[in-house]
Amino acid sequence: MSKRPWGYQPLNKRPDPQWALHPDTHAVRTGLSRSGFGETSEALYLNSGFTYSTAEEAVASFADETDHFVYGRFANPTIAMFEQRLAAIEGAEFCVATGSGMSAMFASIACMVKSGDRIVASTAMFSSCYVVLTEILPKWGVTVELVDGNDSKAWAQALSKPTRVVFIESPSNPMLDIVDIKLVSDLAHKVGATVVVDNVMASPVLQKPLELGADVVMYSATKHIDGQGRVLAGAILGSRDYLQDHLSQFIRHTGPSLSPFNAWVLVKSLETMGMRVERMSNSAQQIAEFLEDRSEIKSVRYPGLKSHPGFEIAKKQMSGGGTTLGIEFKGSQKDAFAFMNRLRIIDISNNLGDSKSLITHPATSTHRRLAPEVRAEMGITDSVLRLSVGLEHSSDLLKDLKQAF
Ligand SMILES: *Cc1c(COP(=O)(O)O)cnc(C)c1O
Repeated sequence: MSKRPWGYQPLNKRPDPQWALHPDTHAVRTGLSRSGFGETSEALYLNSGFTYSTAEEAVASFADETDHFVYGRFANPTIAMFEQRLAAIEGAEFCVATGSGMSAMFASIACMVKSGDRIVASTAMFSSCYVVLTEILPKWGVTVELVDGNDSKAWAQALSKPTRVVFIESPSNPMLDIVDIKLVSDLAHKVGATVVVDNVMASPVLQKPLELGADVVMYSATKHIDGQGRVLAGAILGSRDYLQDHLSQFIRHTGPSLSPFNAWVLVKSLETMGMRVERMSNSAQQIAEFLEDRSEIKSVRYPGLKSHPGFEIAKKQMSGGGTTLGIEFKGSQKDAFAFMNRLRIIDISNNLGDSKSLITHPATSTHRRLAPEVRAEMGITDSVLRLSVGLEHSSDLLKDLKQAF
């Protein structure tokens, strides 16, 4: 999948392979493969096919005996640059890019399960992930058991039986529930399960699930990785064995490929991701502290607040509270809507992880598809708003929030 692009890079201009580079350096350097023109920035190879100089070279390429690219559904030089860069930042053996976060989520699990297999997952999750697990996979004979992500006894009980896959979203969208990734991974491995973490809300900057014991990490790159509201994309990261034994064949033949153009946007986005996410997370912390003291607010869900039930675990496994807050108003949905409508800088939008601050009402938008009982279980009441904090200066965001009350 991520073949080394066969571009030109003089040998004396490559870092010593022994150097353990900082993720910030990987973010601007790793994966870069220059063409013979020696361009500074990553090149965009916007093509679906590749040519061969001889029939024999075509044979060797199809037999995987050369590094020659074959077809856009399998690999592309620009996509490979994005995959190698993200893998280096994450500390994973490989990365496969996909066309959306949902295709990454679906492929990461579907490539492993067959009829009769069992999946265990934490209840609080993004609604499309919930639909995949509770409606689509069960149609094909896969059993899914959901547990309260905060309840270690419930995890121990659910993981006392043979399990194929454990799926965790931590922090969860939109209520920022925290699951102890290490604890659950240890339990899961005892029953032979593969642990998949949806790390969208934390981003590669604030949480490294593979270091905590998870086997596979998936992203919606639409969120913090692009982080500028431009492209839809996804990524799956993990071990070489997972790629060879499960994912590679599934991806090659089902085709959830990313466009090279979108990969080119993303490879440039990775250069600034660390700075963006750290800044957004610092602002979100300030805003969470401000909102927690407001009399109009019933509760603020933010992993960087001591009041969050998962605060201690979040402190252990994340290097910041994240960019997103769940805000529950004391009043009704009408009051929450009035607040949204009075905002002058923060946009009403269902996206998150963007450079622009965005606010949404999950019960009627992102999580509308869930039954009211399921929303209630996730704590998504009609007076909950989700705020994704962007790159505007925090003083202006605080000004906007204050005037909206
Ligand atoms: C947005 C999101 C997804 C889906 O990603 P798309 O790029 O929209 O397909 C999956 N998981 C979480 C937690 C998300 O926020």
